[in-house]
Formats: sequence, structure tokens, C-alpha cells
Amino acid sequence: KKVIEVNHLSKKFGETDVLKDINGTVKSGQVICVIGPSGAGKSTFLRCLNLLEKPTSGEVKFDGTDLTHVSSKQLLDLRERMGMVFQSFNLFPNMTVLKNLMLAPIRVKHMSEAEAEKTAIALLDRVGLKEKANAYPSSLSGGQQQRVAIARALAMNPEVMLFDEPTSALDPEMVGEVLEVMQELANEGMTMVVVTHEMGFAKSVADEVWFMADGYILERSSPDDMFEHP
Ligand code: ADP
Ligand code: ADP
Repeated sequence: KKVIEVNHLSKKFGETDVLKDINGTVKSGQVICVIGPSGAGKSTFLRCLNLLEKPTSGEVKFDGTDLTHVSSKQLLDLRERMGMVFQSFNLFPNMTVLKNLMLAPIRVKHMSEAEAEKTAIALLDRVGLKEKANAYPSSLSGGQQQRVAIARALAMNPEVMLFDEPTSALDPEMVGEVLEVMQELANEGMTMVVVTHEMGFAKSVADEVWFMADGYILERSSPDDMFEHP
């Protein structure tokens, strides 16, 4: 089943063509790693998948619906089904870890307080941070904050997870704990699109690696083929 389908996607910032006629399909359960040099358009591409960035032209279909042609209400509904994790954690600083996870399910999904808490604690357990439920984000390490950010995205029970360089802002010793959580998620069958510079992760976890440069996807292959011919 196709979860995401991109057809002739292009994006301009002013006069600059940042994405040029991008095509691609992400199937259910697939892990796609998007690699390439800085400035290639990877982040812009990822942000076009949930329309955080509005494409200049082309289609971005999620579960068969073209997001570029839906009402803003419909877009919000569809976007709820896509989780996103950023380079810079983006946790709410004035809320405990637990409240960070409970907010969207309560506000957006109208989950009961008790159910949201139960889900949140189960997710914190899953990312190894149950004991941090009542801590504030600023008291956590970068690696812990990013694991909370992943748990928070999962609290909405998304059908796909988008990761934008999730380990690039971390001290090297914390990269592993975040990649481990992502690997487990992949093993459980989550559909994932991951912009990353972590070639080891791409090699061992991706089903397909997309190599972007200068606004194009220049190569698309299995990790074995991608990394065999540098
Ligand atoms: P990557 O993630 O591969 O490093 P980006 O998608 O962040 O690449 O950026 C691609 C190009 O688009 C860069 O030249 C960047 O400066 C430009 N760009 C990104 N966002 C904006 C923006 N909001 N306005 C103008 N230019 C942008
Ligand atoms: P990342 O590659 O991690 O997304 P960037 O520093 O490229 O980080 O971008 C951070 C923010 O600045 C993004 O919202 C991006 O759209 C915006 N941005 C990036 N390049 C430009 C640019 N040349 N002009 C305006 N905004 C930009």
C-alpha cells in the first residue's frame, strides 16, 4: 500500500529552485533514508510531505489524498496522522515530560486525561524514560529530549513518522540511544522517512536510500547498492 506518493514536486524560494520535479513513493512499512549534502533540499522535501512547506507545484498524496488540494481543516486532520521529529527536539519547556506527551492527544484527539496519561507512560517506557515522566525537558540530556520528542509524536498514533536530522544536534555519545529507538520503531513496522547523515543507520535500517543533491533525487537504491558504489 502506498502511504505517500509525490508527483512532479517542485519548490521555489523566491527565484531559487530548491526542489526540482521530485517523484517518489513510500509504501507501508518502508523505511526511506534521505541523504545528501547540506543545501540539497532534504529538509524542504521532508517538510513538503506534510505540507509544513507548501510546494510550488506538483502533488503530495498521503493515503491517496492530494494534500495540496484539501481545505486547511482537512489538512490538519491528515497531518495528525503523520508524526514529525525535528533536529531541535521542540519540546514545550514549561511542561513536564508527561504533559508534553498528553497535550495533543487530549486537545486534538479528545482523549480522556486518564487514557492520555496511560498512553504517555507506556510510550515513555518504550523509549526508556518512564522515570523522567515528571521531569522538565531542560533537566534532560539532548538524547533524552529527542527520545521524548519521538514518544510525543507516537502519542498521536501516527501512520508515518518523518525525521529531520534527528541526531544532528546531539553530542556524539547520545546519537546511539536515539538511533536505537528509531531502529526499534522500524522493526515494529512503522513507515518512516528519515533525513540523516548517519550512514550506518541508513545502511542497516533503510529499505531504500534516496540520494539528493541540488534539488534532485539523483539515486534511489537499496543501501547495499548505494554504499557499494561510492
Ligand atoms: P538540506 O536539508 O538538504 O540541507 P534545505 O532543504 O534545508 O537543504 O535547503 C535547501 C536550500 O533551500 C538551501 O539553499 C536553503 O538555504 C534554501 N531554503 C530553505 N528554506 C528556505 C526558506 N524558508 N527561504 C529561503 N530559502 C530556503
Ligand atoms: P535545517 O537544514 O536543519 O532545516 P536550516 O538552518 O537550513 O536548518 O533552516 C532553519 C530554518 O530556516 C528553516 O525553517 C528553513 O526553512 C529556514 N531557512 C533556511 N535557509 C533559509 C534562507 N536562505 N532564507 C530564509 N530562510 C531559510
